Amino acid sequence: MAIARVALPVAVDKIFDYWIPEGLAVTTGTLVRVDLAGRPLAGVVVDVGAASAAQSGSLVPLRELVSELAPLPPDVLALAGFVAEYYQAPLGQVLALALPPLGEAGAARVDRRAQPMALSARGRLELPARLPRAPRARELHARFAAAPGGVLDADALQALPDSLHAVRRAWARAGWIEPAASPADPASRSRVELNAGQLEAAAAIEAAASGFQPVLLQGVTGSGKTDVYLAAAAAAIARGRQVLLLVPEINLTPQLERRVLAALPGRRVVTLHSALAAGERRHRWQEAAEGRADLVLGTRLAVFTPLPRLGLVVVDEEHDPSFKQQDTVRYHARDVAIWRARDRRVPCVLGTATPALESLHRAQQGRYAWLRLTQRAVVPAALPPLRLVPDRSTKSGEGMGEPLQAAIDARLERGEQSLVFINRRGFAPALLCSACGWQPGCPACSARLVVHRDAGVLRCHHCGHAEATPRRCPECGNVDLLPLGHGTQRLEHALAAAFPKARIARIDRDSMRRKGSFAALHGDIHAGEIDILIGTQMLAKGHDFPRLTLVGILGADNALYSADFRATERLAALLLQVAGRAGRAQLPGEVIVQTSFPTHPLFVALADHDYDAIAATLLAERRVAELPPFAYLALLAAEAPDRAHVDDFLGRAHAAGTQVLAQTGAGVELFSPVAAALARRAGMERGQILVRCAQRAVLQRFLGRWRTELAGLARRRVRWSLDVDPIGFA
Ligand code: ADP
Ligand code: ZN
Ligand code: ZN
Repeated sequence: MAIARVALPVAVDKIFDYWIPEGLAVTTGTLVRVDLAGRPLAGVVVDVGAASAAQSGSLVPLRELVSELAPLPPDVLALAGFVAEYYQAPLGQVLALALPPLGEAGAARVDRRAQPMALSARGRLELPARLPRAPRARELHARFAAAPGGVLDADALQALPDSLHAVRRAWARAGWIEPAASPADPASRSRVELNAGQLEAAAAIEAAASGFQPVLLQGVTGSGKTDVYLAAAAAAIARGRQVLLLVPEINLTPQLERRVLAALPGRRVVTLHSALAAGERRHRWQEAAEGRADLVLGTRLAVFTPLPRLGLVVVDEEHDPSFKQQDTVRYHARDVAIWRARDRRVPCVLGTATPALESLHRAQQGRYAWLRLTQRAVVPAALPPLRLVPDRSTKSGEGMGEPLQAAIDARLERGEQSLVFINRRGFAPALLCSACGWQPGCPACSARLVVHRDAGVLRCHHCGHAEATPRRCPECGNVDLLPLGHGTQRLEHALAAAFPKARIARIDRDSMRRKGSFAALHGDIHAGEIDILIGTQMLAKGHDFPRLTLVGILGADNALYSADFRATERLAALLLQVAGRAGRAQLPGEVIVQTSFPTHPLFVALADHDYDAIAATLLAERRVAELPPFAYLALLAAEAPDRAHVDDFLGRAHAAGTQVLAQTGAGVELFSPVAAALARRAGMERGQILVRCAQRAVLQRFLGRWRTELAGLARRRVRWSLDVDPIGFA
């Protein structure tokens, strides 16, 4: 009897055996549905073999094959195998990342985000035969025919009468229409001529096309890195290859999608991200897996997409922390992308203005090719001058100093746009009783509650707990409760008071939840219908607003005190990114950073846009402190309702680790258990053990054995996880 060994998306590190019913064609990589303890699950066959006599009695059969998806190819299985081993995660959970949601077939729904669409080649071929019998289809067809360039843009699509939306969706499902570059879109109006630096970079990538070659493309914001990737992508596609382009977040950068479409006319571009409807994601995944898609543009999970003709991998904004998944399988998509490129023997381009110190270090060591773009691409656009303004000049008490106010005023006079950046949402990060010093905290977390004045509540940003804002202090009855510090909402109030005529928009998670799509606001900003933008880091990424000439930065000092050793690196990247939003086109820009430490070396280097100087300082500190990239880290985190259970588990984990160390030899440092920086979250007490080693392979060997021991220690009430190359220490 033949058995299939199946990896299932469950937390235990185990492969499950099922017998294969007569007539089912099952091989390695086949997707199957099975029952596990009565629960229906879909999984991937990782091996096929013969059952032993002892086994065969206890085995149950596979239920069925998953027919809607192609089997996983061997290279994706190998990739998943690497990720499972390296990140100490069950193979079944890793393979689940490689698959689109399976769901019940036929539940396909089309992406709700509006993007320009045109009839596909297939649509032009197959539709005409159906039109005479269907008046609605005829009407929709007529609209496409009448649209400029045959493209219905986002607005036109949204304006369709309800009766036509169903037809449009059916057409998208059938592949009769497809995303297209709108001819009215500025992104597609002109293809840029690459400048000398860009040509050199694109040529270097193309020259590496025949083998594995990591390339760090370090270019200042606005230097035209995107056009370099797109040129390299076009070249790879022209050679008959597929391209994988990973980006931190797609929903926030509709411009990029359109630029890609415009740069690759006639090519099949598919975007993949977790916000897509399941059916649509399946459909696009299938196009990639069958080699029909030329370019896959996706967020971190797209790194696992099967691509039979893969020829180039690009990771845009490679320094971005969102490439690291923070739960279940804690993989870093950039690092996985590099492994995949090595395995497939193709180049991997890492693009950024502010390389992660890990990537920079490898480039400096000569392990990565290192290409640089030091000038902004649009000719008059220089990097904006950056002014450090002491926080002391803040008079109004609402966070904005006079220099910033005066600068905003000047923009309003000239009809230009300003962006004020503060990396805290809410009205104020805390509330304080002026009489007795009481501050409301979250009942479930070791954290203070954030004042959300618009909603009239105090909210915990760690667990979501919300309660009504008290009218008086519960300790002493005092009614004078003061909001402490500044968040986006408070800044919005202050700006509205200071500039009553200005059109102000706030962009943070709260406002986006309420007002719906960022894309709509994006259009308003482009159309010049917004004067002042207030935003959190959501706004730092990849936007290009030609009339934006002033960026103000508040609250940057916080990172200087952070417990996380990566906080300053992240701050520097964020600030240079945000500063890069100013003066991208014809108008000169200016950046004002309000800080209590205007002579801090970090800010001084920032004033010169000198990421190299900042990085050199940070790397020197990391070397001395034996931190990444000069050492490798792993973090065992545990949580339980009771502190005693956490301590007990971590104590035994530490003892077990010490024993493993005695066997696997020297070089690994196992630190003592400590409470997490956020010691309690959502009612769970949290603790951790840090592990450090100068050599990756030695650490890997230790972790593999330690994990086996940990699985044996597990207590019902304790949840634990191993995070390899952790990036957050909250
Ligand atoms: P980056 O990704 O490096 O921040 P972008 O690729 O977004 O920069 O380019 C910034 C702007 O410069 C875009 O508007 C782009 O169209 C423009 N651009 C890029 N390359 C050129 C070029 N060679 N000539 C003129 N404009 C260019
Ligand atoms: Zn009080
Ligand atoms: Zn909380």
